[in-house]
Amino acid sequence: MGRIDIDGLTKVFGDGGDEIVAVDELNCAIEDGEFLILVGPSGCGKSTTLRCIAGLERPTDGKIVLDGDDVTDEKPKNRNMAMVFQNYALYPHMTARENMAFGLKMTTDLSTDEIDRRVTETAEMMGIEELLDQKPKELSGGQQQRVALGRAIVRDPEVFLMDEPLSNLDAKLRTQMRTELQSLQQEFGVTTIYVTHDQTEAMTMGDRIAVLNGGELQQIGTPLECYHAPANRFVAGFIGSPSMNFFDVRLDESGDSPSLVHEAFAYDLSDELAADVVGRGTEFVLGVRPEDVRLAEPDDENVLATEVNVTEPLGDVTFVYLQIGGDQYTASFDGDVILDPGSTVEVTFPEDRVHLFDGRTGEALRNREPPSEDAEARLSV
Ligand code: ATP
Repeated sequence: MGRIDIDGLTKVFGDGGDEIVAVDELNCAIEDGEFLILVGPSGCGKSTTLRCIAGLERPTDGKIVLDGDDVTDEKPKNRNMAMVFQNYALYPHMTARENMAFGLKMTTDLSTDEIDRRVTETAEMMGIEELLDQKPKELSGGQQQRVALGRAIVRDPEVFLMDEPLSNLDAKLRTQMRTELQSLQQEFGVTTIYVTHDQTEAMTMGDRIAVLNGGELQQIGTPLECYHAPANRFVAGFIGSPSMNFFDVRLDESGDSPSLVHEAFAYDLSDELAADVVGRGTEFVLGVRPEDVRLAEPDDENVLATEVNVTEPLGDVTFVYLQIGGDQYTASFDGDVILDPGSTVEVTFPEDRVHLFDGRTGEALRNREPPSEDAEARLSV
C-alpha cells in the first residue's frame, strides 16, 4: 500500500520579517500506485513539498498521512519511502553493488546473502548487472542514475520520491530514461511522486500532475485536463510547448454585439462566448494555443491580418512567429505550409478553441471545447 494524504501542508522558512512561504496550505491525495508529477517553475516549492513528504524537512503546519497513519513527525527511515535525487547521491568509494546494498544493510536485519540476492535480482531486472562491480566515477551519467534508481527499487518501498532525477542527463538519454522509468513504475505499481520543472516530463510521465506556483497548488488533474482545461492563466501558460498565446483584451458592449478589443483587432463574441464574460468586468485575457491558430478561409469571421516575422520548419509542423500589435505570437501550422518572412497572412482563432481568463485574477472563465465527447466529461473548469 502507498496512499498519501497531504493535508494543509505549509512550510515557512526564516522568521520575523524575512519569512519565505515555500509551501502554502497544500492539500492533495495521492492514490496507491499512482504516478504524480509535481511541476512548476523554479522556487515554486516542489522540492520542499517532496522533502516534507520524505521527512527531510519539518512542516510548519499540516500533516502527511501514509495509509491512514500520520507520519508527519516520523523519522525518514521509518516512512518506507525511497528518494532518488538529481545528483544521484551515490557514495563514490563504494561499488554499484555496495551502493545498492547500503540502504538495506542500514535499515533492515536481512542477512548478507539475502541482501546480495536482492541486489543481483534487481540489477538483472534493470539490465545493469554488468555495472555492479564498478564505482560511480567509472559510470556514465545514465548508468549512475540507473544505479541510483536500483538502490531505491531494491528497498521495495511503499513510495518513490524523485527530485528531478533526469535533469543531469543529455536530451536523448533523458527521453530514453523517461520511458524506462515509466515502465518500471508501471511494473512495480509503487506510488511515485516525481518533481520536475520540465513540462514535457509532466505531460508524458504521470497519471496526474499537480501544478504549483509560489507555493500554492494551481491545479491537479490528468495531463490532458491541465492542457485543455487549465484552471487559470498560469497553468495555461506553463503547460504546453510552445506556450499558449495570450492577448490582453477589453470588453466592448457599445456595438450591436459585444466584442473583445485588443490593440490590433476586435474579436466579435457569439452569444455563447459573451455569456462567459458579460457582467464579469471589462478586462480579460484571450488565450489560443499555437496549434489552434488557423489560416483564414473565405467565410471565416474574426479574421486578422498579421505579418510573418520568422518561420521554423520542423518537418511535421512549422512554427510561425506572427507580429500582432506590438508583440510576437506563435502559430503552429502543418509542415507543408510555406510562408515567407515579411509576408502578410490572415489568421483566425476559431471560437471553439479560444480560452478566456479573468484579466485581474487569471481564473479561467471559458476553456476550449473538449477534443472529443469521451473527454468531455473529464474536462471542466
Ligand atoms: P527548484 O526547481 O529551483 O529546485 P523548487 O520549486 O523545488 O525550485 P524549493 O526548493 O522548494 O523550490 O524552494 C521554494 C522556496 O523556498 C524558494 O523561495 C527557496 O528559496 C526557499 N527555500 C527552500 N529551502 C530553503 C531553506 N532551507 N532556507 C530558506 N529558504 C529556502
